[in-house]
Amino acid sequence: MQKSIVTAIVLFFSILVMMPLHAHAYETGYVDTSGTLNVRDSANADAPVIGALSNRQTIEYLEVSEGWGQITYNGRAGYVSLDFITASGVSEVDEEETVTEANTEPVPEPAPEASLQGVQRVVLDPGHGGRDPGAIVGDVMEKELALDIAERAANYLSSAGYDVSLTRTGDTYVGLEDRAAFANRQSADVFISIHANASFEVQANGIETFYMHGSSQSKELARTLQQMAVSEVLMRDRGIRGSAFRVLTNTQMPAALVEFGFMTNSGDASLQQTDLMRDQSARSILRAVDAYSQ
Ligand SMILES: [Zn+2]
Repeated sequence: MQKSIVTAIVLFFSILVMMPLHAHAYETGYVDTSGTLNVRDSANADAPVIGALSNRQTIEYLEVSEGWGQITYNGRAGYVSLDFITASGVSEVDEEETVTEANTEPVPEPAPEASLQGVQRVVLDPGHGGRDPGAIVGDVMEKELALDIAERAANYLSSAGYDVSLTRTGDTYVGLEDRAAFANRQSADVFISIHANASFEVQANGIETFYMHGSSQSKELARTLQQMAVSEVLMRDRGIRGSAFRVLTNTQMPAALVEFGFMTNSGDASLQQTDLMRDQSARSILRAVDAYSQ
């Protein structure tokens, strides 16, 4: 009798504690693929297909294992590969609300990391490329914007004495795992992926930076990148967020992904088309690497 009362009290407080954590574990994103995205019965690529999502469809998902998100599909749980989901975030986020390290879902094991001090080798990762254009708004393609910023950043970084390499130097398709493998082969000290955001909510705007779940060094890198980006570029500060993007989880060094504004927001988009914004974005990467390296 006494034991069941204690159990009930423990359960009650557990539920109180769990609720807000779960409320923040969901992320918003949209389907980013050339065709449709299969919804599967469980979180692996061999599981039976129970349906499909169309390209650009917005979803809310819970990261349940590396590279897999759980969604509600026709009233039941369905699973999609996060390789084909681009996070679009939620409006009015701040770091405390969106960092999901404290949640109870399994997160990938942190990879072994280089030491914080003395960054020498930098791998820049311009998002998308080739048959994967990323977001397209009007005649602007995310793959071109990302490559332009990456090339400018590479110039700044090599002038400052860093060894810089890019996961792609032209309009070519490179898979997410190949990007991470490239950085690992280079024994890079930091890996910085460069993207631009898109959302069906045209008012969504600003810069946000993602880092690999469970890695304090990646989080520090993301924090520094975000801080420098919003001090250089006149865009809203959306903060930093933990994520299980495959390009981040497979790297063996601190890794972060910067989304330099929303191509779907008229204010951000007009800035993105200027040399000034692209140059500021590139310089912010140099300043961040300098600061992180100290
Ligand atoms: Zn992208």
